[in-house]
Amino acid sequence: MDHFIYKNGALFAEDVAISEIAAAVGTPFYVYSTATLLRHFQAFDDALDGMEHLVCYAMKANSNQAVLRTLAQAGAGMDVVSGGEYLRAKAAGVPGERIVFSGVGKTAEEITLALEGGIRQFNVESEPEMVVLDAVARKLGVVAPITIRVNPDVDAKTHAKIATGKSENKFGIPIARAREVYQLAASMSGLKIIGIDVHIGSQLTDLAPFEQAYQKVAELCGILRADGHDIMRLDLGGGLGIPYEKGNTAPPSPVEYGAMVQKTLGHLDCEIEIEPGRLIAGNAGLMVSEVIYVKSGEGRDFLILDGAMNDLIRPAMYEAHHDIVAVIEPAVGVDQQPYDIVGPVCESGDTFAKQRMMPPLAAGDLVAFRSAGAYGAVMASEYNSRPLIPEVLVHGDQFAVIRPRPTFDEMINRDTIPEWL
Ligand SMILES: *Cc1c(COP(=O)(O)O)cnc(C)c1O
Repeated sequence: MDHFIYKNGALFAEDVAISEIAAAVGTPFYVYSTATLLRHFQAFDDALDGMEHLVCYAMKANSNQAVLRTLAQAGAGMDVVSGGEYLRAKAAGVPGERIVFSGVGKTAEEITLALEGGIRQFNVESEPEMVVLDAVARKLGVVAPITIRVNPDVDAKTHAKIATGKSENKFGIPIARAREVYQLAASMSGLKIIGIDVHIGSQLTDLAPFEQAYQKVAELCGILRADGHDIMRLDLGGGLGIPYEKGNTAPPSPVEYGAMVQKTLGHLDCEIEIEPGRLIAGNAGLMVSEVIYVKSGEGRDFLILDGAMNDLIRPAMYEAHHDIVAVIEPAVGVDQQPYDIVGPVCESGDTFAKQRMMPPLAAGDLVAFRSAGAYGAVMASEYNSRPLIPEVLVHGDQFAVIRPRPTFDEMINRDTIPEWL
């Protein structure tokens, strides 16, 4: 559920009209709903009630500091995957003891940042990383708390680019080698083993792969404890999917997910950590764009928008579907017609939807891409020298620009021309 609804024929974000934001900041732009962000966080937090737990928002989904602070004030921790994300979380006011550090390529520099600034745990993904982490920790005279990410070799049944739990993926260590790798970690004085980590992919729409993976984790927990390791925390990753298409059967809810976690892992008396990203931010955001031209092509009409693949890459990158709605609610009974909805970038891949049924639209009309709050603004680029689009946060009847649109000069002046030219 979200807080983007029509009121008196116009699309609103909570109590603010989308057209009012468009008039203030220009198009295209991203807009996020505070109430939706908090609702989704709360759903996860409540779903794990009865088990000691921390919901660590995977901030790569949407890392604007206003979003981070909104969630952190509600009690969220953060899952970070780079030194930049770590510093961004700190800048947003998240204390180190609520930040977990994931990722396959943590550098010594990034590890140093986190050890100096405070960290809840590192989710270690390989033996070479373990060696570096141990060395940096000892040099700094501290002990790094770790889980080791195991790759359970389950098929998450999601898009190949966001599946991470098969043996051929680059993530984690094969679960079959876990005992040996935990033994190695235990021998390193700069490391302290505290638990196990797993994350099998993103946009999962079925609980079965999660359950398979968590059963393997439960079994591993018993084995590692018998080996003498102190397993007190299980980090279960993120990945629960969201409904991108109205009318599709909804993926399992956080409540159903929580019940499954309780069932598969509840008896182990471990603290549970989860790292949802998409489910918290995805349906909490829209990308709003204006129709520049309606162009009649060979047997089809194109809606050419001012937003493009550089602003929202998911359709081009993952063949992802986004519902696209008119900001002025179509009158009841109006005939819809098919459009190819495209941006101005010079690539055929800059196509958001083909033959999408829409009410009749004209130049100057606004449309909104739903479910654009996750992996939207964070994946944007300035391809075609198109400045990054602004982000806006709504809270009740208030809204604020939380990242302004750079001017053309700001964008252009980042280049420097060598003196020999
Ligand atoms: C991307 C990622 C997540 C979040 O995935 P979502 O599908 O957005 O919930 C969580 N943990 C790790 C390690 C990730 O890489």
